Amino acid sequence: MDRIPVSILGATGTVGQKFVKLLDGHPWFEIVALAASEQSAGKPYGEVVRWRESTPIPESVAGLVIQRSEPPLPGRIVFSALDADIAGPLEQAFAQSGAFVVTNTRIHRMAADVPLLVPEVNPDHLSLLERQQKERGWKGGIVANPNCSTAGLVMALAPLHVAFRLEKLFVATMQASSGAGYPGVPSLDLLGNVIPFISGEEEKIEAETRKILGDLTGSAVEPAAIAVSAHTNRVAVVDGHTEVVSAGFARRVRPAEALEVYRNFETPAAVANLPSTPARPIEVDSRPDRPQPRLDVDRGTGMSVTIGRIRPCPLLDLRLVLLSHNTVRGAAGAAIQNAELLVAEGYVK
Ligand code: NAP
Repeated sequence: MDRIPVSILGATGTVGQKFVKLLDGHPWFEIVALAASEQSAGKPYGEVVRWRESTPIPESVAGLVIQRSEPPLPGRIVFSALDADIAGPLEQAFAQSGAFVVTNTRIHRMAADVPLLVPEVNPDHLSLLERQQKERGWKGGIVANPNCSTAGLVMALAPLHVAFRLEKLFVATMQASSGAGYPGVPSLDLLGNVIPFISGEEEKIEAETRKILGDLTGSAVEPAAIAVSAHTNRVAVVDGHTEVVSAGFARRVRPAEALEVYRNFETPAAVANLPSTPARPIEVDSRPDRPQPRLDVDRGTGMSVTIGRIRPCPLLDLRLVLLSHNTVRGAAGAAIQNAELLVAEGYVK
């Protein structure tokens, strides 16, 4: 098929650069416009961007002149990696103009008519788009992916929730510095240190987890009745959020049962063949000292979530450790996969 033209908002940032890298050579999508702030607009991308990826800037985009982040931009799909503080009205303006905005920002995630999607977990929530278009009178729409720590967390929890009904959740994160954008946390604050506060992150994990694991009834999501206690920390890791979890279920669950559920997990058929869906969205590693960000973050090209140390918990039922790539599974890769689902389900032609 002809590739679908797409634009990227916030293309100069940490997540924007990951979009550029992951979309280079994408079988369905072709970057036709890059946008950022007023300061960057009007200059060639290759001159302005402080490129932090380990592969060179793709030649096809280096010469593109950066546009202002407002409609119209070419492309039926607009990926948003904008600074959240300014994203709200801009994303809405693009949706109103007929584009499908696939966003990483927090700003619309909890809106009742916005799908907060993890395709392997809740692809049915995509149908909220119909309500959104009807109620807002838009030809386009907004679809969001969860924040970077929630993305890995729900991937690990969803199969257990379906099998055993999750009721209580304790999670403590060790989040990579790239999660704060570039330049992010000053190195002298972070090196040899742990910062036990990430603004707004605990609230996001608690609310987004309930929405994603919630049930779609008609055109509304009933949030899952899970008591969530989240503790978030920034650590001196470049990429990869590690999360330690204790989970309590409607009945006592043994580690062997959880392992069996993970072993039998199957990606929904409509999602399995999307280009960004990894062969194994969940990888269980039984070695006692895994997962580790430096060794395991790129599994499944950054789209697989690695789970280890599944063991009994004396407070709740189960304990485990999970690792996911914050700018791939937790941001650009997730958004691209969401856009692929929009195409596969016929919303974007
Ligand atoms: P970042 O590195 O700080 O990049 C921010 C981007 O927004 C830059 O392209 C910047 O363009 C642009 N921007 C800033 N002010 C603007 C304005 N007034 N008008 C238009 N564009 C403007 O941030 P990031 O880490 O990539 O995060 C981007 C978004 O994704 C945020 O909403 C963040 O919460 C979310 N997110 C990030 C991660 C992660 O792991 N980093 C994960 C999930 C979600 P200039 O270069 O021209 O200033």
